[in-house]
Amino acid sequence: MKAAVVNEFKQQLEVKEVPKPTLSAGEILVKIEACGVCHTDLHAAHGDWPVKPKLPLIPGHEGVGIVEEVADDVRSVKVGDRVGVPWLYSACGECEFCLSGRETLCPDQQNGGYSVDGGYAEYCKAPAAYVAKIPDGLDPVEVAPILCAGVTTYKALKVSDAKPGDWVAIYGIGGLGHIALQYAKAMGFNVVAVDIQQEKLELAKQLGADYTVNGMETDPAKEIQQEVGGVQAAISVAVTRKAFEQAYQSVKRGGSLVIVGLPNDELPLPIFDTVLNGVSVKGSIVGTRKDMQEALDFAARGKVRAIIESAPLDAINDVFDKMEKGKINGRIVLTM
Ligand code: NAD
Ligand code: ZN
Ligand code: ZN
Repeated sequence: MKAAVVNEFKQQLEVKEVPKPTLSAGEILVKIEACGVCHTDLHAAHGDWPVKPKLPLIPGHEGVGIVEEVADDVRSVKVGDRVGVPWLYSACGECEFCLSGRETLCPDQQNGGYSVDGGYAEYCKAPAAYVAKIPDGLDPVEVAPILCAGVTTYKALKVSDAKPGDWVAIYGIGGLGHIALQYAKAMGFNVVAVDIQQEKLELAKQLGADYTVNGMETDPAKEIQQEVGGVQAAISVAVTRKAFEQAYQSVKRGGSLVIVGLPNDELPLPIFDTVLNGVSVKGSIVGTRKDMQEALDFAARGKVRAIIESAPLDAINDVFDKMEKGKINGRIVLTM
């Protein structure tokens, strides 16, 4: 089968023939139709993070396709079903986190397109128990970004504890951010969209942002404090430290900063302000299988829709190049 492979960090991916995966107990084989390109895949290909991916690696954790084969013991998924293979590729099912419905915190999890091969390929295998069932009627290319960008931002908004009618700020209107803002609207929040590129802010306005700020032109935190009195929650999905600092400063008393973007960096916090203002700072990682069902349901009901451009698998190096330069409006989805 054809796949895009990272052989070495910071090198071009090689699109080549590799063996088709063979199934073990509990697994299914998915004929991939489409796979979204997440900024995490670029971090993986660069070896940006403290925990490195396997090499060689087939990246991709927004893969959607049709089940072509199932292992003898698989009952929950059948041949012909449309499924997604997410970042939470598997978990142990037995630790305190798995047992309490927080399987994204499982220390024994595998991650699609990181610790195991993912969706930048014609085929991908996955444990039946962790794939996402794609609701009928959704286009495979359009739904692919929900598998990561969607569930991740939906979950971040949930853990922010903001309530309908509250103001929230989304820092970074890229692949995650443009979907975050749609979930935020659908959940009843007033939304400030912040980016450093005007075209991203134009998209944000089209998608219903109540207020937009260009971080290149003004200090977003100051403007947010002045115009809306600060936000109950700021979600940072940008990839620069500056955006996290500004997001923190945008939060009002009693509010929260939810950290989602993953630059390999640190965020120094002023202890006095954090304590006196009662600000919470939390990390949020993708979403559980239950969060995934909910996130997909929003898409199935037409409340959230990724803005996508499709590209062939062979174009992956150009897609990464565009992503690095911040030139993607919405999400690019590879088609097989
Ligand atoms: P992306 O490249 O599509 O979007 C990043 C956006 O941030 C761009 O629109 C860019 O213009 C904007 N930006 C850059 N600097 C900014 C600044 N100073 N202020 C405001 N906006 C700024 O990336 P993506 O696919 O949306 O991923 C974003 C990050 O989220 C990555 O680090 C990725 O690894 C991470 N991520 C985390 C999780 C999780 O579970 N926590 C899941 C998926 C992705
Ligand atoms: Zn992702
Ligand atoms: Zn576990």
